Amino acid sequence: MNTNCLPGVIVTDMEIGLMNAIHNVLSSTRHLLCRWHINRYVMKACKGILKNCEKWEQFIVLWNMLVLENPEVDYERNLHEMDRIFEGKYSKALDYVKVNWLKEYKDRFVAVWTDTFMHFGNTTSNRAESAHSKLKRELGTSQCNFETSWAKIHAMLLLQHTEIRASFERSQSFVQHEFDKVSLLKDLIGYVSIVALEEILCESKKIKYVEADPIAYGCVIKCSHELPCAHEMADVESKREVEYSLDYFDDFPLEDRWMLIPEMGYLIANCYNVVLIHFLNTISLMFLLTKSHSSPEY
Ligand SMILES: [Zn+2]
Repeated sequence: MNTNCLPGVIVTDMEIGLMNAIHNVLSSTRHLLCRWHINRYVMKACKGILKNCEKWEQFIVLWNMLVLENPEVDYERNLHEMDRIFEGKYSKALDYVKVNWLKEYKDRFVAVWTDTFMHFGNTTSNRAESAHSKLKRELGTSQCNFETSWAKIHAMLLLQHTEIRASFERSQSFVQHEFDKVSLLKDLIGYVSIVALEEILCESKKIKYVEADPIAYGCVIKCSHELPCAHEMADVESKREVEYSLDYFDDFPLEDRWMLIPEMGYLIANCYNVVLIHFLNTISLMFLLTKSHSSPEY
């Protein structure tokens, strides 16, 4: 089989036989475990141990934070917090999640590890399950012969194809007011799907935070969806600010005429007989040089 046809990521439930088969046959495929099903197992095993309703709610909130929060320091902190609160009287519940899930499988469902590769947000098997139940509904009975089954499956796939095409057309023609308000998204409207624009819009709201603390936010969306992360968007916005400031000297202030010092912002010297210091989006200073400085040749 052509290796290009093999899936990059597979999401399954906890079925040892299936998991072994995937490991043997698709050894290069990243294998995730469905978070939704894991949560069901956790609820079944732990709710009875934590009979106190308030304690159970606290447990499940912390568990969800442990599973969903990035980066790794948050994982360690959340685990430590669970240890602190539930050790002793409720340690059985703690042991259950540690021994059965975290010890061997944390890299298959905890965001710190799963968000390091592209899965387009598929962290549960829900999509496959809903497709399966739709197929069962269409078939109606398990007693169909090959011919009638084929006709029904074919009709269902045609309908699905039509729905996908309709969603692409909607992305090309339908402009959501929210997207229009964000300057970074303007050039993408009509070319990028509405779903992707919504993801980018959500990420763009972090721009002001990454400027204050660049390390606090990881590049999750870049890894998991191959979409621009808040750091990249902040960078583009900064460059636009610089271009806007240099408009006075040059209609097209090309970047190759800039001197860049990314750690501190942008510094543009001499090319336009000005020095412009730009610290991210917060401070922008411009100095005109004296006549004794001449523009370099370019
Ligand atoms: Zn980033």
